[in-house]
Amino acid sequence: MGRYLGSSCKLCRREGVKLMLKGLRCETAKCPVEKKQRNLAPGMHGWRRGRQSDYGVRLREKQKIKRYYGLLNDQFMGYFHKAERMRGNTGENLLQLLERRLDNVVYKLNFASSRKAARQLINHGHVHVDGRKVDISDFTTKVGNKITLKNSGKSKKQVKQQLEANPNYTTQGWLQLDRDKPEATIVALPTRDDVQVPVEVQLVVEFCSR
Ligand code: SF4
Repeated sequence: MGRYLGSSCKLCRREGVKLMLKGLRCETAKCPVEKKQRNLAPGMHGWRRGRQSDYGVRLREKQKIKRYYGLLNDQFMGYFHKAERMRGNTGENLLQLLERRLDNVVYKLNFASSRKAARQLINHGHVHVDGRKVDISDFTTKVGNKITLKNSGKSKKQVKQQLEANPNYTTQGWLQLDRDKPEATIVALPTRDDVQVPVEVQLVVEFCSR
């Protein structure tokens, strides 16, 4: 499966919002979106954002959510078609499926500083779900799943350092974290409010349904 190898900050500048793709750097004044480049698209000279067409507005919403979760287009469309087949509101289903990805869960537990770092932790076999190693970052978690770490000093030390670096970090209500072990349980399904990027999901649905 291919992956995006370009600049992460470029993606945020293109969307004009902080997608929090680089861990701790995103919280500092070094973030380009915090600086005056906020209204400039990437490139040497950038450009002021003009009026967008209806198509353009919907495209940008889709790109924003796709980039927030670090997906390629085909992967994203796979989630969309799955959300369409589920009962209920397609947009809400889509966001819920994306939030339930294992790399997102590991990131939201603060076991890793970014989704990219979470994917690395998973791919290297450090994360277990219900006692079994899961090295697939798009694994869809469900209520009751217990997320633990490989029983090796290295895995736990790495995650404990990350947790200690952010002592005030609070996990969202659908995740129950035991910082001492460290391990966590998924106690509920995520809701729309748990998605931290501002996105008009109805516009994403309209774009993908064309
Ligand atoms: Fe770069 Fe993070 Fe700022 Fe995005 S939020 S521009 S990834 S530093």
